[in-house]
Amino acid sequence: MNHINDDALLKRVLQLLEKDDLEEQDRHLSGCSLCTTRLAEISDETNILGSIEPDIQVPEIPLPRSDRSLSFRLMKIAALLIIGFVAGYAVSRSSGISLVTIVPYQVSHATVQPPLSQFTVCE
Ligand SMILES: [Zn+2]
Repeated sequence: MNHINDDALLKRVLQLLEKDDLEEQDRHLSGCSLCTTRLAEISDETNILGSIEPDIQVPEIPLPRSDRSLSFRLMKIAALLIIGFVAGYAVSRSSGISLVTIVPYQVSHATVQPPLSQFTVCE
């Protein structure tokens, strides 16, 4: 006869067993004092663990102070913008990207007809 292992007994205590497994354990437990004793021990241990209330202290998260003035916030935003501009300029200078220069170009052999020559005058 194979005895019920502790994991299966713990599942029974935690009411995690399927109906078929529960019925199979019931049949075994009705004739096995060893497993019945072990089931009682596991049940007692589980009850002890469940009754422990840990002393948990929730840490206080400091909220941002609201006494800062609007000018301080504006100075902070301006500083971030300046830092961003300088950093962007430095990156663009170091990446080797050259500026685009647009040069006017004239087509010397243009064959474009004046638009009025395509129409005829009707009277
Ligand atoms: Zn047994």
